[in-house]
Amino acid sequence: MALLEVRDLAAGYGPIRALDGVSLDVDVGELVAIIGANGAGKTTLLLAISGVVVPRAGRVIFDGHDLAGRAVHRIVRLGIGHAPEGRRIFPRLSVRENLEIGGQARGDRAGVRRDIDEVCAMFPVLGQRLGQAGGTLSGGEQQMLAIGRALVGRPRLLLLDEPSLGLAPLVVAKIFEVIAALAARGIAVVLVEQNARVALRHAGRGYVLESGRITLSGSGAELAGDRRVREAYLGEG
Ligand code: ATP
Repeated sequence: MALLEVRDLAAGYGPIRALDGVSLDVDVGELVAIIGANGAGKTTLLLAISGVVVPRAGRVIFDGHDLAGRAVHRIVRLGIGHAPEGRRIFPRLSVRENLEIGGQARGDRAGVRRDIDEVCAMFPVLGQRLGQAGGTLSGGEQQMLAIGRALVGRPRLLLLDEPSLGLAPLVVAKIFEVIAALAARGIAVVLVEQNARVALRHAGRGYVLESGRITLSGSGAELAGDRRVREAYLGEG
């Protein structure tokens, strides 16, 4: 049984069908990329997994638990962390307070403190800025903070929405180095990216989402070599 099983998932907004029969699996420690154009439904897929968007049909099973009808904080407690599109950090709160919010669903303050130390070891720049307001960080630092905040919730599955968006190549490289290290430690990662090249380079497997449907899947290398992917998402051919 996979850690995450998504089956025939449908979701939307009013008359808009954003997801239409999406099925996918993610195993423990796997790094899975979801690539697709603007509006393909990538963000909605992550929101439906983390319980923010309520699916219209289909099922999300995490570690054997059907997530239907569960509140977002309960889903966090089961072990799903989400670094959302646009980072959504709290600009007036300090970096430390932002990180502490990630641990709110946990009852153990000592553990939260230890995990904040671990996040700071992973992203030393956050450790240097713990007392600074989140809104004063650069874009890359805010992305690190969004990932760090999700990690303080002790996820076994981490959902990342466009972590590379708007960031300089060196910062993207640093963030992907950490993402790969997390997967190597056994944390499963679902990575939504418009930057298909960087996503497929790091992902063990990937899915292509088009107009709310999965149209292709395979290993990262297979997808990166696929003619349709190269033409549509890698700007080749
Ligand atoms: P992007 O990369 O632009 O974020 P995406 O692949 O993440 O795209 P979604 O954001 O999931 O795609 O959007 C899927 C569809 O749902 C699109 O047609 C979008 O316009 C629509 N949509 C997304 N959010 C909302 C909303 N809050 N209200 C109405 N329609 C929405």
